Amino acid sequence: MSLKFVERQQLKEKPNIKEVAFGTTFTDYMVSADYNKDDGWHDFKIIPYEPLSLDPSTAVLHYAQTVFEGLKAYKVDGETVLFRPEENFKRLNRSLERLSMPKIDENQALESLIELLKIEKDWVPNGKGEALYIRPVVFATSKSINVLPSSEYKFLIILSPVGGLFSQDGLGTTKIYTEDKYVRAVRGGVGEAKFGGNYASSMLAQEYANEKGYSQVLWLDGVEQQYLEEVGAMNIFFVKNGELYTPKLNGSILPGVTRKSIIEFARDRGYTVHEDRIHIDDFKKGLEDGSVTEVFGAGTAAVVAPVSHLNIHGEELKVGDGEVGPVAKEIYDTLTGIQTKRVEDKFNWVKEVK
Ligand SMILES: *Cc1c(COP(=O)(O)O)cnc(C)c1O
Repeated sequence: MSLKFVERQQLKEKPNIKEVAFGTTFTDYMVSADYNKDDGWHDFKIIPYEPLSLDPSTAVLHYAQTVFEGLKAYKVDGETVLFRPEENFKRLNRSLERLSMPKIDENQALESLIELLKIEKDWVPNGKGEALYIRPVVFATSKSINVLPSSEYKFLIILSPVGGLFSQDGLGTTKIYTEDKYVRAVRGGVGEAKFGGNYASSMLAQEYANEKGYSQVLWLDGVEQQYLEEVGAMNIFFVKNGELYTPKLNGSILPGVTRKSIIEFARDRGYTVHEDRIHIDDFKKGLEDGSVTEVFGAGTAAVVAPVSHLNIHGEELKVGDGEVGPVAKEIYDTLTGIQTKRVEDKFNWVKEVK
């Protein structure tokens, strides 16, 4: 693949990864491509990371046609690797379709990412829990405030070095608050798309949860407000009588690559994994009678986020002994082990950048 490359005059100084806040530092270059009706997606190139100039009427600013992805590159024995990146570009296309935006060639998008990562290889950190976070984003660029799908779009891939989310030894615990008033998504809506508006509309509940001393929101379904959906921007799992449970995909739950990977390898290891509709009262009963021993979120950013306490309908419940449980630990060690090639990659999930 021959991508146009615009070199920058001066490279940035690399920051101390231990000191940067998540998602605030970006590398020297980015991928850029444009779409219009006549040419389709075109002009894929690697250019210096720099501000954009937008007309005040730019469609995305008004009607929010914007979808994104999130994945990570890891450094293993001096090589850059990706974890199931094809899944992210497939999902990007499903999100684009849902928002009436033009689909992009998945191979071309992935190839452009790989070219970018080759150039930026010195930005991939190699400490424990550290990675280069990859953010593809597509947004509407027509200069028009007419309420119509935009006729022009831009695709960018930007890169941000990130440290471990929790302490040095990998896993910490979080406290979550069950949201009874607001919902994240409804069936038939856009919950299963990685659509910017989903995150804008979730921030108020997140703020309330934070004020009450909780770090994440447990979202219930948007119709009956009775069934478990997600925790923050992660999928949720729990362990009950030694078996794994996660809400069944229903159109309002974001289909996580981490979720899918956990289900696949846990089944391979002999775990029974249930994808069910899970009523909050049944879940609460399980916490009270001790049959639910672990609860954790799952997503690219944290990989696994064990929950120590849950507030359900105003009552705070402790999960097990409030510590990181053995299943969460096993899943974390296995997934991060595969990602860093310390554990056999029997499913062929790791893709080398070369
Ligand atoms: C991105 C995301 C997830 C997790 O998806 P991964 O592919 O595992 O990172 C879960 N829920 C929401 C709402 C998300 O945005």
